[in-house]
Amino acid sequence: MVMKKDISKIFKPNDIRGVYGSELTDDLAYKFGRAFVFYFKTRNVVVGRDMRLSSPKLCKAFINGVIDQGANAVDIGLVSSDALYFATALLNIPGAMITASHNPSEYNGIKFSLAKAHPINGKKDLEVIKGLIEEDSFKDCKRGKIIKKNILDAYVRHVHSFVNLKNLKKMKVIVDAGNGMAGKFFPLVVKGLPIKVIPIDFKLDGRFPDHEANPSKRKNVLHLEAVMKKQGADFGVSFDGDFDRAVFVNEKAHRFDSSLVASLIIKSILEKKSNGKFVYNTVMSKVVPEVIKMYNGEAFREKVGHTFIKKKMREIKADFGAENSGHFYYKNNFYTDSAIITFLIVAELYSGYGGKFSDMMREFRKYRKIDEKSFKLRNKDGVLLKIEKYYSKKAVKVEHVDGLTLYFKDWWFNLRTSNTEPFVRLNLEAVNLKNMLEKKREVIKMIKKFD
Ligand SMILES: [Zn+2]
Repeated sequence: MVMKKDISKIFKPNDIRGVYGSELTDDLAYKFGRAFVFYFKTRNVVVGRDMRLSSPKLCKAFINGVIDQGANAVDIGLVSSDALYFATALLNIPGAMITASHNPSEYNGIKFSLAKAHPINGKKDLEVIKGLIEEDSFKDCKRGKIIKKNILDAYVRHVHSFVNLKNLKKMKVIVDAGNGMAGKFFPLVVKGLPIKVIPIDFKLDGRFPDHEANPSKRKNVLHLEAVMKKQGADFGVSFDGDFDRAVFVNEKAHRFDSSLVASLIIKSILEKKSNGKFVYNTVMSKVVPEVIKMYNGEAFREKVGHTFIKKKMREIKADFGAENSGHFYYKNNFYTDSAIITFLIVAELYSGYGGKFSDMMREFRKYRKIDEKSFKLRNKDGVLLKIEKYYSKKAVKVEHVDGLTLYFKDWWFNLRTSNTEPFVRLNLEAVNLKNMLEKKREVIKMIKKFD
């Protein structure tokens, strides 16, 4: 039976994402389970889910698809995305995670991974899976089994292995779990460590009653900033819904761009070993390649998106990778990202530093960057061409690695279009705040004028 419903909308470049019930249904999740097993010819699939209200139903449907297609489903229950990746390595089997990461509560989705956290080929694999679901001619198979497994102890030992726990000094940290998976996982990881936690929104709640679980947006970090101003602490951290992104604030409640946290980690790696290799995305601050160069590392600039970063890192055996969205990737974490490993490393570096968090970060605060801004445009490609024409004469360098990047003497900006939505995203950085605000206003004016 061929499906009539158009399902292209839920296929994002690297995963599945859509509004639960209308775009992404239980029936579709079931078919994803069948198609995943059929296409990757696997006998076992590890399955995890986040705390969204629709996750138990979607997860059950996906697992039914897996077992109806003849494979065993290893159900690891409520987990973070990095714990699912860890499970694919621990068990050496492919996996799927029911989550919509930081999206609003009406959304849900599926992230796929091959064994040992190898990423799927977003374009090719998802296209074939889409075809299989549309065709919907799955044959009867001998049903597989559902195997419940607890991976938590092994996971905690794994993330602890990234630091020397004895180095951790007494500290007080304000942690915003955003009602997401950090609420379950953070306490497990810091149990027994000298870290006093002031918790915000630790109750798992898929309705996100306090704020959206997306710390990339300033408004979602205001609660953490307010608690910091009132109670004070050594530093603060905010996680996204599926606990794979971390955003840090200092003791003055100042939120850091991920480029600065990446720079701190890169410096620490290069102080221990020479010739480290690092991958960072096209919209990160100039401070990142500068720090890599200053401490004699090798820098690799890559397009925005976790599949690009992971692929490049595996190719060159990079030590560490980072994205502006708060994703930090580690070689010893199977080249995937982990927010809790990042937290532990930052806590260890802070313990070793001995001074204030703001002072530790000062050497990386050389520029001022805007938070990524998205514009819904009628003619996104036309706008990019007109902007390039308008600015290219004054630019020192024009580059097309990822959308359009224009460099000037004391500022730069990048405009890139979304593959799936009518959006153009702006990143801009300048040598000081005044310059940044001025250029931001100017570029936004031009984008609106040219649309
Ligand atoms: Zn996430």
